[in-house]
Amino acid sequence: MTKSWPTDRPPHEGHRWTLRFEGFEPRAEGKREALCALANGYLSVRGAAPESAADGVHYPGTYVAGVYNRLSDDVQGRTVTNESIVNLPNWLWLSFRVEDGDWFDLGSAELLAHEIELDLFRGELRRRLRFRDPAGRTTRVEQRRLVHLGEPHLAALATTFLAEDWSGRLTVRSGLDGHVTNGNVDRYRSLSSQHLEPVLEAEPDDETVLLEVVTTQSRVRVAQAARTRVFGGEVRLDPPRGLHREPGRIAHELELGLDADVPCRVEKVVAVFTSRDQAITEPAVDAARALAAAADHDALEQTHRIHWEHVWWRGDIEIDFDDGHDEPAPELALRLNLFHVLQTITKHTADLDVGVPARGLHGEAYRGHVFWDELFVFPYLNLRFPKLTRGLLLYRYRRLPEARRAAAAAGFQGALFPWQSASNGEEETQTWHLNPRSGRWLPDASHLQRHVNVAVAYNAWQYYDATHNQEFLSYYGAELLFEIARFWASAATPAADGRYDIVGVMGPDEYHEAYPGADRPGLRNNAYTNVMASWVLSTALEACDILTDHRRREVHEKLGIDDRELESWDAVSCRLRVPFHDGVISQFEGYGELEELDWEAYRARYGDISRLDRILEAEGDSTDRYRLSKQADVLMLLYLLSPDQVCAQLARLGYEVDEGQLAASVEYYLARTSHGSSLSGVVHSWLQVNAGREPSWPLVKAALAGDLARNEHPCTVCEGIHLGAMAGTVDLLQRGYGGVRPRDGVLWVEPALPPQITRLCFNVGYRGASVAIDVADGHCTVTAHPNVGPVRVGLAGEVVELAPGESRRVPVSRR
Ligand code: BGC
Repeated sequence: MTKSWPTDRPPHEGHRWTLRFEGFEPRAEGKREALCALANGYLSVRGAAPESAADGVHYPGTYVAGVYNRLSDDVQGRTVTNESIVNLPNWLWLSFRVEDGDWFDLGSAELLAHEIELDLFRGELRRRLRFRDPAGRTTRVEQRRLVHLGEPHLAALATTFLAEDWSGRLTVRSGLDGHVTNGNVDRYRSLSSQHLEPVLEAEPDDETVLLEVVTTQSRVRVAQAARTRVFGGEVRLDPPRGLHREPGRIAHELELGLDADVPCRVEKVVAVFTSRDQAITEPAVDAARALAAAADHDALEQTHRIHWEHVWWRGDIEIDFDDGHDEPAPELALRLNLFHVLQTITKHTADLDVGVPARGLHGEAYRGHVFWDELFVFPYLNLRFPKLTRGLLLYRYRRLPEARRAAAAAGFQGALFPWQSASNGEEETQTWHLNPRSGRWLPDASHLQRHVNVAVAYNAWQYYDATHNQEFLSYYGAELLFEIARFWASAATPAADGRYDIVGVMGPDEYHEAYPGADRPGLRNNAYTNVMASWVLSTALEACDILTDHRRREVHEKLGIDDRELESWDAVSCRLRVPFHDGVISQFEGYGELEELDWEAYRARYGDISRLDRILEAEGDSTDRYRLSKQADVLMLLYLLSPDQVCAQLARLGYEVDEGQLAASVEYYLARTSHGSSLSGVVHSWLQVNAGREPSWPLVKAALAGDLARNEHPCTVCEGIHLGAMAGTVDLLQRGYGGVRPRDGVLWVEPALPPQITRLCFNVGYRGASVAIDVADGHCTVTAHPNVGPVRVGLAGEVVELAPGESRRVPVSRR
């Protein structure tokens, strides 16, 4: 049945919305914490046990998007500076003990039951536990927590204690712990990690404690205020309470008198502010004020749920599927991925001046840096929450001056965005990295991934196509495109044969940094980079024609672009070199001369060979020598452009390549990729789906299960989710099976479901209109929202204009 507008709500069926973990397994705890992290785009907290501290098993990280700090270290005689997202004081901290016993500790307690439940529909993390203490008393504890989606500065934790078979004293310590460091990632352990200095500990009123800290270098002040109230049913209780205060840490200690079988609830509500926030005077003042006005837990929970419902109305993708009884169920995996995307990038993000952190706000891998991964997030967000993608583009736009400086410093014109970006848009890529397998520190040239510049331009264009937002294009998008086009034109050097070369770069495949034996890093003519650079140049020229004459003149004058420069963009866009070998596109010039790897031998020897870079380096060898890829590189072309667009771009470059030859390139690289990046599985699954290959479903299902299914050691999910891959899997459903491909003003909807999916249903927005798409029973029904439109939709090969409220139903094929 077609979704009815606009009051339809996603169904609330427990198992499809609830991620549940039973028991307590120390080895699995880090992964659970990341998967159960709660966030609202501004603030996040890992799904750690509230009574725990960082101890190798638990890691209660709290982050605020965009709060970074730099620390320097000496690595092998060189000063190395790293900028990291900062682990902020632990506001969750709530520990307890029965009578004079030890403070409760998951690792040593006699646990009778322990269960964690992430309710994706409500954005709530619940925990239930029962334990018996050494004196034989049984206690039950239930906790509910939220990071408020509507009020970005607020978070809350409600804990209900029940003495099952005893009466007596239970002491609760509820506080703010600033004695934290950045310690989530083992590989970074040998580097400095102390980012915070204490500023203030205070007790603004009897039930509130307040802590302020400041980051050591960026001097961001962070204030947290925590209010702890106790309730017996609806009645507020006033148990004796003491104060523990030391520099960087403050807590209330409450003595609860429990009667057997009578629940007692402790509610902790927290406000978090930083000196980066807008509309504040100073973080401590505003934290205290916000908290004083904050509702109690139940009321917060209600408004929080409403915000989540609103987000799910727009953002949900429903699938019904039937392929046996697999765990984890794909619907749940899909919702989990959606949930993490939706809570990491929210309407609060749009005004925060932050980018897409590759590992979410869920851990410290890659130090919270922003890579090209937003490329994988835009297709989903653009068609639902374009305000968010606009905000992400503005994060880049504000860093144009820095990108211009980077281009100039590297000897180019225009703008060069950094491979890893954080606070001010400087290049944050580490210059040395540790191979944990060999224990060696190695030079890192990955900043040569200039293709990140392609991603920024591509995203700006996709946003424009999805929204048709002329104002954005005129004032921001065009400038981004022009400065990036200018960079590519200046990076292209003319060769004797009339072609242009782009040298000294790395492609998305990070396993090739240099030619074997070369004394400097960098490759010649990475095909993905060159074809996409040509695309950027031709698209920038197209953008010139879209701007009004007046605005085009203004932008050109501002940037100093003249006709000669535009001619050079055109020339370069037609003459960049693309290498080929054995009938396929070469990943870069000379790739075809590299040796073949004995894949079977390596698989037999190592099992998991996804990190071939580490394996080979530890053997004294190098991935540079072989025809292998960490992740999709050439094939990214087919991820970003349709096969006919790739052929057209190659034709513009003077290469006649047909879709059959593209298919040969797909086969070639599929066989030589180790999937060392989570993004790789997404791209390869997409290629299978797109080509209508059987069997795409197992690949898509595996990609969906992604972080949920990962069990590798060392654990990567413990250090944060793979946000780009999560969003990419969602796009596999939307764009892959759903066939939703906006292009030049038409929202094409050409679904093809695999036999295992019986229904696919979601809403998308395009250029101000919204449509509901429902694919089931061999038909696709597209219904335009009654109040907005019309919208041009491509259905069954035909473009139709749907008036507001109008519906079309067409038969669809199966894959
Ligand atoms: C991948 C990059 C990606 C980064 C952050 C790396 O492993 O190779 O393509 O941008 O992770 O997700």
